[in-house]
Amino acid sequence: MNVSPQAERAAKLRALTESPLDVLIIGGGIVGAGVARDAAMRGLKTGLVEQRDFAFGTSSRSSRLLHGGLRYLAQGRVGLVREASVEKRIIHQIAPHLAAPLPFIFPTYRGNKHWVLWQLKIGVKIYDLLCSGRNLGKSTWLDRNAVQAQVPALAQQNLNGAVRYFDGFTNDARLVLDTLRSAEKHDAILLNYVRFQSAAPKEFWECEVEDQLTQETLTVRTRSVVNATGPWADGLSHSAVKLRVTKGIHIVVERERVPVPDTVVMTEGKRILFAIPWGERTILGTTDTDYSGDPNQVCADAADIDYVLSITNQFFPGAKLKPADVISCWAGLRPLVADPNGKPSDISRSHEIQSPKANWWDIAGGKLTTYRLMAEQAVDRIVRELNVATHVTLPCRTAQEPLLPREEINGFSGVLPPLFNRHAVEHYCTKEWAMHLDDVMLRRTSWHYYHRDAAQKAEQVADWMGELLNWTEEQRAEELARYRELTSLPTVEVNQAQSLSHVAN
Ligand SMILES: Cc1cc2nc3c(=O)[nH]c(=O)nc-3n(C[C@H](O)[C@H](O)[C@H](O)COP(=O)(O)OP(=O)(O)OC[C@H]3O[C@@H](n4cnc5c(N)ncnc54)[C@H](O)[C@@H]3O)c2cc1C
Repeated sequence: MNVSPQAERAAKLRALTESPLDVLIIGGGIVGAGVARDAAMRGLKTGLVEQRDFAFGTSSRSSRLLHGGLRYLAQGRVGLVREASVEKRIIHQIAPHLAAPLPFIFPTYRGNKHWVLWQLKIGVKIYDLLCSGRNLGKSTWLDRNAVQAQVPALAQQNLNGAVRYFDGFTNDARLVLDTLRSAEKHDAILLNYVRFQSAAPKEFWECEVEDQLTQETLTVRTRSVVNATGPWADGLSHSAVKLRVTKGIHIVVERERVPVPDTVVMTEGKRILFAIPWGERTILGTTDTDYSGDPNQVCADAADIDYVLSITNQFFPGAKLKPADVISCWAGLRPLVADPNGKPSDISRSHEIQSPKANWWDIAGGKLTTYRLMAEQAVDRIVRELNVATHVTLPCRTAQEPLLPREEINGFSGVLPPLFNRHAVEHYCTKEWAMHLDDVMLRRTSWHYYHRDAAQKAEQVADWMGELLNWTEEQRAEELARYRELTSLPTVEVNQAQSLSHVAN
C-alpha cells in the first residue's frame, strides 16, 4: 500500500527526534543540500531542516550558470576561477541533465575601455585551460561580420567583434532537489517547512525546531550543527558569520523579442549582464545592489526591472522591451562573506567554513557552482572534529557518483520545464516533498516563470494537488491566494524608476 505524503512526513519527524544525529544541517539551499548528500554518503547520520520549501532562498533565484566566472579572471582571481571551473565540469559529469554546455558570445565595441577584444581573446584561452584544458566547449573568436551573421538583432554601431566561450546552464532549484533526492537515498532525513529556532550545547547540541505546518516544537539532539542558511546565516544564535548581502534580479521575456542563439553578454561599464536563451524564452539579468531588508521579503522592484530592460534595449535596439513584456521575474540575495576593509566591488565570491564553537559549523559565501566543493571541505572538517571511534566514515564520493539514475530524471528534471501534466505533479507530491502550490509552480517545475498562462496552469495544478493531498475547497483557495501573493509583479513605469546604484561587478 502507498504511504501518504503526510504519513511519510510524520515518520520523518519522529526519526529526526528519536535518537541523536551526527549532523543537523540548517537550511535547504544548495549548500545545505550538498552537505547533506556528502555527509549521508560518508555514513553519518544526517538530518536537514528547511524553514520554507527546499531551494526557497537564493538557490532558486540565481542566473542558473555553472561558471568559473570570466569577469573574476579579469580581476586576476585565477584560483577562484580555476576552482569553480573544475567544479563546473564535475557537475556536468554527475548531473549532465542539469549542466548543459552553454556558449556565450561576448561582443566588444570601439571606445569601451573596460572590455577590449584582444584582452578577451587571451582571457577565453586561459579560461579553457583553467578547466584542465577541457572546458564544455572550445572558445573561438568572431569578427564583426560573423557576429552580425550570428546575432543580427545585436546593436551594430562600433561593433568590433566578439569572443565565444563556454560555461554550463543549470536549473538551480532542480540541482538542490536532485541533490536532496540523492541524499535521501543515502538515508538522510530531510524536512522542509521545519524552522530551526535555537540550540544549546549540552552532552549533544540540543536544537529546538518548529514544524511550520503544525507549530509543534521539537527537540533534535545532534553531535554537530551546520549553519547553511545563506543570506540568513548571520541571524542564527551561535553564528559567527558576517555577511554583505546584495540583491540581483532576473526577468523572463519571449525569445523572439530578444533573439539570441547563444547567451549574449551585455556590458555597462565594468558590469556584465546576460541574455540567456531558455527554450522559447530569454532570461535577462542581473543587478547587484546592496540589500538590508528582510531576506524573506526580497523582490524585484520597478527600478530593478527598468534597469535590466534599458540595458537590453541598448544592446538589442529592435526589442523595444516594455514592462508589459515581462513574463515573470525573480529576485535573490547573494550571501557574500563581508570584507570589512574591502570596497564593495572587491567583495569576494569565495566561501568560508568556520567553527566558532565546538561542533558548530558556519558555511557561508561561495556560489552554486562550488557547492559540492564547499560541502566536501566542510564534511572533511566535521568528520575530523567529531572523531567518534564508533564511526567508520567513508571517503568523499560526491564527485564520482551520479546524482540520480536516468529513469528518475526523465520527465521530471532538467534545464527546461517538464511537460505540463498530472503525472509530473503526482511525482513532485509523492517523491519530492511538494506541499504548497508554489512548491510545484516555482521550484519543482519553473512553470510559473516560463508560461504566460501560468495563472491558469496554477488553477489546474491546484486541482491535481488538492486531489493528491486531500485539500478542502478552502485550502485550495488559500493556496491560490498564497501563490498569487508570492508571484505578483511590481507595477513598473519604465524610465520613471529611480536609478540603481550598482555596487559590484
Ligand atoms: C542574482 C544572483 C545570481 C546568481 N547567479 C549565480 C550563478 O549563475 N552561478 C552560481 O554559481 N552562483 C550564482 N549565484 C550565487 C548562488 O545562487 C548562491 O551562492 C547560492 O544559491 C547560495 O546557496 P545557500 O544554500 O548558501 O543559500 P540559500 O539558497 O539561500 O539557502 C539557505 C536556506 O536556509 C533557509 N533558512 C534560513 N533560516 C533558517 C532557519 N532558521 N531554519 C531552517 N532553514 C532556514 C532558507 O529558507 C534558505 O532556503 C547567484 C546569486 C544571486 C543572488
